[in-house]
Amino acid sequence: MDPDCLFCRIVSKDIPATVVYESDSTLAFRDIDPKAPTHVLVIPKTHLPSLNEANDAAVVGRLLLAAKDIAKAEGIDQSGFRTVFNTGADGGQTVHHVHLHLLGGRPMKWPPG
Ligand code: 5GP
Ligand code: ZN
Repeated sequence: MDPDCLFCRIVSKDIPATVVYESDSTLAFRDIDPKAPTHVLVIPKTHLPSLNEANDAAVVGRLLLAAKDIAKAEGIDQSGFRTVFNTGADGGQTVHHVHLHLLGGRPMKWPPG
């Protein structure tokens, strides 16, 4: 837990969020500024700044499997969805606690901007 980290403070319920999924290791909540009808952030409960620092396959894998389950619960598993890790400055990362974006409910463009 990093007391200066926004997402750690969401994990500790210090800052409110609309939680859509929770397990011992993983939390998912709605993005405060959604870019699609469904926009959920899936995070590990333990602090990890970005994918650059990741070394535990189980931690990263659980984020993806949680995203798949949330997509189904949101009713977008068949229409389709996008999962994205933004990493570092060029990746567009603004919050330095690793998070998987789950976006769906509208067609996505490719390539991303
Ligand atoms: P990044 O730009 O780092 O890939 O994504 C960070 C995301 O966190 C952004 O989509 C932003 O809207 C979201 N966000 C920033 N602050 C908050 C907050 O306080 N609560 C929630 N639920 N989402 C946030
Ligand atoms: Zn954190």
